[in-house]
Amino acid sequence: TFKALVVESGDPYTAQIRQARLDELPPGEVLVRVAYSSLNYKDGLAITGAGKVIRNFPMVPGIDLAGTVLESASPEYKPGDPVILTGWGVGERHWGGLSELARVRGEWLVPLPEGLTLKQAMGIGTAGFTAMLAVMALEAHSIDPAREVLVTGAAGGVGSLAVALLAQRGYRVVASTGRLSEETYLKSLGASEILDRAVLSAPGKPLESERFGGAVDTVGGAVLAGVLPRMAYGGSVAACGNAGGAKLETTVFPFILRGVNLLGIDSVMCPKEKRLLAWQRLARELPKPLLEATLQTVSLEEVPVLAQAILQGRVRGRVVVKLD
Ligand code: NAP
Repeated sequence: TFKALVVESGDPYTAQIRQARLDELPPGEVLVRVAYSSLNYKDGLAITGAGKVIRNFPMVPGIDLAGTVLESASPEYKPGDPVILTGWGVGERHWGGLSELARVRGEWLVPLPEGLTLKQAMGIGTAGFTAMLAVMALEAHSIDPAREVLVTGAAGGVGSLAVALLAQRGYRVVASTGRLSEETYLKSLGASEILDRAVLSAPGKPLESERFGGAVDTVGGAVLAGVLPRMAYGGSVAACGNAGGAKLETTVFPFILRGVNLLGIDSVMCPKEKRLLAWQRLARELPKPLLEATLQTVSLEEVPVLAQAILQGRVRGRVVVKLD
């Protein structure tokens, strides 16, 4: 048997640590001894039941995992290989990473990129991977390097790593947060300036002064509605999240008068080739001291409480869950 966090859908909805059996694991070609998982906003929704993330019960949540191959029927992997996995519905419809063991499809795995430890890979996790996809999307749309880049929900997981990646690439990064007390933290990641979230979410004009060349938005809702009118001519916004709401009320003016682009970012079904590229870039470009500055490492036992906290916007940066 092995230890896992198991979510059951009864009344009440529960998330409890228990011993699970190998024959409970779903089918897959590769058995992984999980060394670390991580906690993302979506894991908070799954563990608390606040969002209908889980498709079948009982479920082991955890959309991210990093560990070592124990058994493999996939020609691509052999026992001992260090691997990472993010997305693909793992932790939603297939037992996930908040467990000492995971059995998964070989095609979902990414070999641990050179230059990263398993722990660092989970410090990055889905959040950092998404931040890199957002940076890649902005660069593919040639954002003006002379303009500022905005990151919303900056003190969260995706936000913190987006700030660090963009600052490292030489952009002047404006970090929007509802937690102004995190100014020192955000500046240590490379932010040049802090912008109160309330400024963006307040009702405003269809077009404000042109300011940002690019933006990474993790909040959605009223905040994204406040980002679009502030984009400079030809600027691009990478829409990653909905921590502040899923509805978007806006006008077409930023799009038709300023040629602003709204770019959708999805990490879950991201094709393999782009995944490998993003992970290679993360391994090379994300400064390790900045990554370490965003991390806290916790045990599986601490996860249920932190799952509540992440939904309340009370978690700073990234949470790594140590399993072995
Ligand atoms: P997180 O660590 O909780 O970060 C979210 C941040 O959003 C919080 O730290 C907070 O930042 C801000 N926030 C939280 N509640 C808010 C509210 N009610 N109103 C306004 N701002 C609020 O979560 P995460 O794991 O980084 O994920 C961020 C978002 O991206 C989530 O919606 C998640 O589902 C989404 N996501 C999407 C993908 C994808 O593939 N598209 C991948 C990963 C994550 P401040 O305190 O700094 O304001």
